[in-house]
Amino acid sequence: MRKVYRGRDIEVSFDLDICVHVGECLRGHPGVFKLNRRPWILADEADADDVAEVVRRCPSGALQYRRLDGKPQEDPGEQTQVTPMRDGPLLVTGQDRSHA
Ligand code: SF4
Repeated sequence: MRKVYRGRDIEVSFDLDICVHVGECLRGHPGVFKLNRRPWILADEADADDVAEVVRRCPSGALQYRRLDGKPQEDPGEQTQVTPMRDGPLLVTGQDRSHA
């Protein structure tokens, strides 16, 4: 189930069921993403552009964002891309057409 963490300029959502636990978010911005805090995501702890950049690095799509400040929304891209990560999962980006 996807949970939403709303900030002033950006809203971040998280789906634990598809998280692959590689910690990219925790390394990407420890102030925004902190496991031993509730809520564990504080979208206002960084500039919205920085939050969006970290969310885009999430390899599973567990993290997504929605801009509330009028800036462009997340674009999954037309092409599906699969990028192997060192000792890790495959980073898959693109549109989910399984519901089309
Ligand atoms: S970056 Fe994405 S897949 Fe990795 S731990 Fe964070 S939410 Fe989970």
